[in-house]
Amino acid sequence: MAKGRRFLIAGNWKMNGLKKDGCALAKSVAKSLKKAKGKKQPFDLLVCPPYTLLSRVADAIKGSGVKLGAQDCHVAEKGAHTGDISPHMLKDVGCKFVIVGHSERRTDHREVDAKAKAKAEAVIEAGMIAIVCIGETLAQREAGRFISVNQRQLKGSLPAAATAKNTVVAYEPVWAIGTGLTASPEQAQEVHAVIRAELVKSLGEEEGNGIRILYGGSMNPKNAKELLAQPDIDGGLIGGAALNADDFRAVAAGCK
Ligand code: PEP
Repeated sequence: MAKGRRFLIAGNWKMNGLKKDGCALAKSVAKSLKKAKGKKQPFDLLVCPPYTLLSRVADAIKGSGVKLGAQDCHVAEKGAHTGDISPHMLKDVGCKFVIVGHSERRTDHREVDAKAKAKAEAVIEAGMIAIVCIGETLAQREAGRFISVNQRQLKGSLPAAATAKNTVVAYEPVWAIGTGLTASPEQAQEVHAVIRAELVKSLGEEEGNGIRILYGGSMNPKNAKELLAQPDIDGGLIGGAALNADDFRAVAAGCK
């Protein structure tokens, strides 16, 4: 982590949580920040529950400093798009961040880079921060193509008006998501450094060095500290471990 960037620990709850347990989880995460009030934490905490819980979680974390995010959105502001949710609706409910281009969206809904980019641009246009996900598959890593794949995905998914204030990039090797396999700190840093170099090349020193790059893929209390100690790892996008408030807190405690 370089000077000037602040850690972001983001919980992606995916399709998990009913009213009771989702609100309890949000309250417990909020309590951890409330307890630490006065002590300046080196990280921002973000929770991204499913759409059905956004409003309740917004109430549960109110005043705590924990931020609210969504897991996806449509590109349009409103209209005839049955089943979709617009960035403006997400902002209206209190979201500050929206994840776009997650590998599960790419696989389950055939989303491609151009779609992720359009969504990121719609998120920014609506006044929120886009978390743009990229990452290689196991086959691509084993074929030695992981650098070029991430470069290509970044180029294709990065919003045109990306700045350090409106965009976060998440490197999530697909082979590490929900599998218990984690990229080693060295493997992750290698890709993060490439992403950083690409960001600087396309956005210039200030914005490129200011954008936070999160690591995602089976991050947990055991491996977080070492991953977060890498110079270009500015936080985590956490799936499984974000569903347990103690684990989520323990991951955040790895930010030094
Ligand atoms: C994710 O879905 O973004 C993720 C990283 O999941 P997990 O932590 O469960 O691997």
